Amino acid sequence: MEILKGTFAFEGIVVGRIFLDKKELSNKGITALLDEREIDGEIERFRDSLELSKESLERLKTSLAGKIGEKDLEIITAHLMILDDPVYISDIEKYIQKNRTKAEDSVKIVTDKYISLFNKLENPIYRQKVLDIKDVEKRIIKNLNSKKNEWADLNGKILITEEILPTELLNMCQENIKLKGIVMEYGGETSHLAILAKALEIPTLMGIKNIFSYDWKKDVILDTTEQNSCVIIEPDEKTLEEYKDKIEKFNCKREEIEKSAFLPAVTLDGVNVSLNMNISGKTTKEEIDAVTPDGIGLLRTELLYMKNNSFPDEEEQIASYNDIIKNFDEKDPIIIRTLDIGADKQLPYFQMKNETNSFLGLRGIRFSLSEKNIFKTQLRAILRTAYGRNVKIMYPMITNINEIREANELLKEVKEELRQEDKKFKDDIEVGIMIEVPSAVMMADAFAQEVDFFSIGTNDLTQYILAADRLSETVSDMYDSYNPAVLRAIYIVKQAADKYGKSVSICGEMAGEQKAIVAFLSMGITNLSMVGGSILVARALVRSLDYTSLKNVKEQILQCSDSNKIKEILKKYI
Ligand code: PEP
Ligand code: MG
Repeated sequence: MEILKGTFAFEGIVVGRIFLDKKELSNKGITALLDEREIDGEIERFRDSLELSKESLERLKTSLAGKIGEKDLEIITAHLMILDDPVYISDIEKYIQKNRTKAEDSVKIVTDKYISLFNKLENPIYRQKVLDIKDVEKRIIKNLNSKKNEWADLNGKILITEEILPTELLNMCQENIKLKGIVMEYGGETSHLAILAKALEIPTLMGIKNIFSYDWKKDVILDTTEQNSCVIIEPDEKTLEEYKDKIEKFNCKREEIEKSAFLPAVTLDGVNVSLNMNISGKTTKEEIDAVTPDGIGLLRTELLYMKNNSFPDEEEQIASYNDIIKNFDEKDPIIIRTLDIGADKQLPYFQMKNETNSFLGLRGIRFSLSEKNIFKTQLRAILRTAYGRNVKIMYPMITNINEIREANELLKEVKEELRQEDKKFKDDIEVGIMIEVPSAVMMADAFAQEVDFFSIGTNDLTQYILAADRLSETVSDMYDSYNPAVLRAIYIVKQAADKYGKSVSICGEMAGEQKAIVAFLSMGITNLSMVGGSILVARALVRSLDYTSLKNVKEQILQCSDSNKIKEILKKYI
């Protein structure tokens, strides 16, 4: 028996037969050279394959509409754009012509050139582009051979693979091939694949290094629960027996979770917990109604700016914010965060200065204060959207008190302008800041006197406290939000806010993790904002906890100096 630990994308426990997907895309080098007379035919064959690829993607998009969220379907649109890219297509055609290589080889060689080009670019946006172009390459090659679909064999099995591409998963879904689980070598927690695995509810384990170096036997236990996140190769009788029990318990818990969807998030001893949703772009009413959040705890406005060709004007922003918040009640709290651009989030139409370390450079509020007109336009749009609603403003990446004061000064100016223009806006709008950097933690008591609320961004707070890049694979082990330094920092912020009667919420990814929810409640933090997909599990967990008795958990974790010990303590409550 061997237990391999990884990270989970969607929780589940299954026992089943595996499908070992050891095939590699290519790397075989050039397979054959064409005769001069075959070249035109080969280009024709390549064009047919492009058409087939486009048709199949269009079909896929139509058939999945309604089954998968609109945002997830954007992957297909991105792939269609690559298939229509005139430069990419003509590069491949020219390659066939010039080198007399078969279409498969030419596609592979040209695509590899693009991939190595994107890999050289430091901007992480291009990492996603690499995955997209690999996916498209695989599709074109598959259609060149127009091989019959081999996926039927996968039905009901646990796929063991280096990497499965998002559209492959979507295709399987369309063809009613149901994977029982996925164990894979690659894939970050925020990758498209992880998001899709969640949407399709496939228990998925990621990050199993050198996956084919293990002696895979026919059957495995795949346990992608947050507590265990492992795959067990060749389980012994005793473990199989234990798992029968675990599966039953897990299924009961799932039923409880589903039942609690429309019940209040209140602990056993009657404490209300506010569960809000993090939203970045358009989200449908169905997606919101399925999880019934109390409001929006973090509306990231970057996407609106990133998908545009120029800075969105005031009216465009108002329309876009209204489109997102229209599915919420007027009284529901909606926190709109001002533009958090810079570092990994760049605008295609605005060239930022190259910086050695862009995460420590001009980002978040620093950018807004350096581009005052752009900032003022956004403040106007938020103030006007907020009219008659419970909308609040939040500034990202605050590191010193002058930034808060300067931003608030501009807010005052903008309000005055709107008054002069007789425009309707929310004069008494609440203003908050994100706590994401160590200086904000240390100065929280001073900052609390300048704002109405704090929201702790644990994604950035973890990276800045631990000096571990949140996107880096090399230091991913060090990037650990359960590090006692991070938890102590959160508690310092909570105490400072309490002292001045200000509210604190958490809006980093951690807010949706069960272990972290136990820790936050133990510290008295009862306002959380997370991705929609985590809300039901969070609500069921809240309903199973006794708030008062968690107080001693706080004492225990704040005394710990080892994150593993902290996780062990927290695990007992979920
Ligand atoms: C965070 O840093 O925790 C956060 C919520 O902001 P973002 O992930 O958008 O940087
Ligand atoms: Mg952040």
